[in-house]
Amino acid sequence: MNAPEPALIPSRSFDELHFQSGFGKLSPAFHSRVEPARLDAPYLVGVSAAAAALIGLEAAELRRPQVIDILAGNTLAKGSVPIATVYSGHQFGHWAGQLGDGRALLLGQLPGISGDSWEIQLKGAGLTPYSRMGDGRAVLRSSIREFLCSEAMDALGIPSTRALAIIGADTPVFRESVETAAVVTRMAPSFLRFGHFEHFYYAGRHDELRQLADYLIDHFYPQLRDEVRPFQALLREITRKTASLVAQWQSVGFCHGVMNTDNMSVLGLTIDYGPFGFLDAFDPQHICNHSDSTGRYSYANQPGIAEWNCYCLGQAMMPLLESVDLAKEALEIFRPTFAAEFSARFAAKLGLAQWRDPDDALLSELFEILATSRVDFTRFFRELARVRRSDAAGDSGCRDLFLDPSAFDGWATKYRQRLSDQDRSDSERADAMNRVNPVYVLRNHLAEIAIQRARGGNERVRLGLGASTPVRTAQQPAELSSGQGDAPDYSEMATLLEALRSPFEERAEFRSYAEPPPEWAAHLQVSCSS
Ligand code: AMP
Ligand code: MG
Repeated sequence: MNAPEPALIPSRSFDELHFQSGFGKLSPAFHSRVEPARLDAPYLVGVSAAAAALIGLEAAELRRPQVIDILAGNTLAKGSVPIATVYSGHQFGHWAGQLGDGRALLLGQLPGISGDSWEIQLKGAGLTPYSRMGDGRAVLRSSIREFLCSEAMDALGIPSTRALAIIGADTPVFRESVETAAVVTRMAPSFLRFGHFEHFYYAGRHDELRQLADYLIDHFYPQLRDEVRPFQALLREITRKTASLVAQWQSVGFCHGVMNTDNMSVLGLTIDYGPFGFLDAFDPQHICNHSDSTGRYSYANQPGIAEWNCYCLGQAMMPLLESVDLAKEALEIFRPTFAAEFSARFAAKLGLAQWRDPDDALLSELFEILATSRVDFTRFFRELARVRRSDAAGDSGCRDLFLDPSAFDGWATKYRQRLSDQDRSDSERADAMNRVNPVYVLRNHLAEIAIQRARGGNERVRLGLGASTPVRTAQQPAELSSGQGDAPDYSEMATLLEALRSPFEERAEFRSYAEPPPEWAAHLQVSCSS
């Protein structure tokens, strides 16, 4: 039999694309018409070929000056009517009132190549009616982090908003120090958040609340229309997706950092990458956001916070539900969904074909010894595929990661016993494990190296601000220097993206990306400043 023809995907030109109103079709109660601010002399910093392919574009298409001007916000594409949407939210557990797209605007919707559609959003494109005290801009540093992580999460199989490109400009943006401006083009079927519902609930505008729920059901949850109580079913589905998402975060050691209700997607996507981080050494109490002084959003707290956020959504949807009991009934799906997804993910990570009750104890014990010995989370699971079920010959990769190797030996004995209960060869198990345990995740220090190289060594000089406080000092490690003298160098970012797009495929040239952080990175801090 002949092999099937590979699918041919026509490559589109950006000029053929015609933006439609997506969320923009809703009444002006939900959004404001905005104009992107001009960005002088914009240049392309990076592009995701995978994201471009979703709307039928080749990466090269985004290198054209006309397209760069559109993604910088300098020219409006055909059909585009930019809007900023209004939402509110609970920030760090407290009602924060109105927030909204303070520096993001929707250009409109584009058809995807699979009959789907994508809202296209520029983040950092200037002031909107919701900018409050902000300047409407984003800096290159945080834009690179968001760009890389969106694409990395997708490649890990974890639902996420996408990032098409980063446009930079030598325009100063003032944070703790001066930095340069950047705009990330984000893509998602919808950028709606829990906070959109909260906004209309707390304003007492129940008609709009209902319109929002109807919009969501019509476009993203059409199967719920036939339910006896579609709005209750909607709350249940969003809760289910959220529980599943957070279980997936836990399984790769991803910490979001700012799980405010305005950063929670009603489609269960990872959204708003700020001070996120991946666990290096396993520490359940790890806090990735330097601004999170109480650890509200620590790794271990993420599932509980996600559930709390779903309750906030449930509260906001109360006018659409008939009783508190119905809301509670919908929210009850969170715990069993999280537990099932978490077990399934960790069963796969451990190479177990099925999860059985006693495996909870095996995993708890593993977490304890990983934490005590501060073992690198990603490396441990990747190395675990080498452990053999009948002898300790393959143990050294894992064992050597432990300060106390005897702790590993004790656990490995139980693990081997468990493996001998299942009918799966070592090589079959290793193959399966290597498909779920990544070699490469976006560790903070890897993002930092890509960022420093992209910023170049003479940013202040380039901005005409003198060289009084250089971005880098002589004591800083060589990895942080661009290979091109002081000029900005985006090649490291592109190479890192390539590794992150195939996170399960070990490649010799990417060996350094699999290493735990070097000493200089021990004190890297990431905060809300972006
Ligand atoms: P974030 O912490 O990025 O999720 O943002 C929280 C809120 O602050 C959102 O309403 C953002 O739009 C707004 N915001 C953050 N940074 C800026 C900025 N530089 N200019 C305007 N609004 C901002
Ligand atoms: Mg946000």
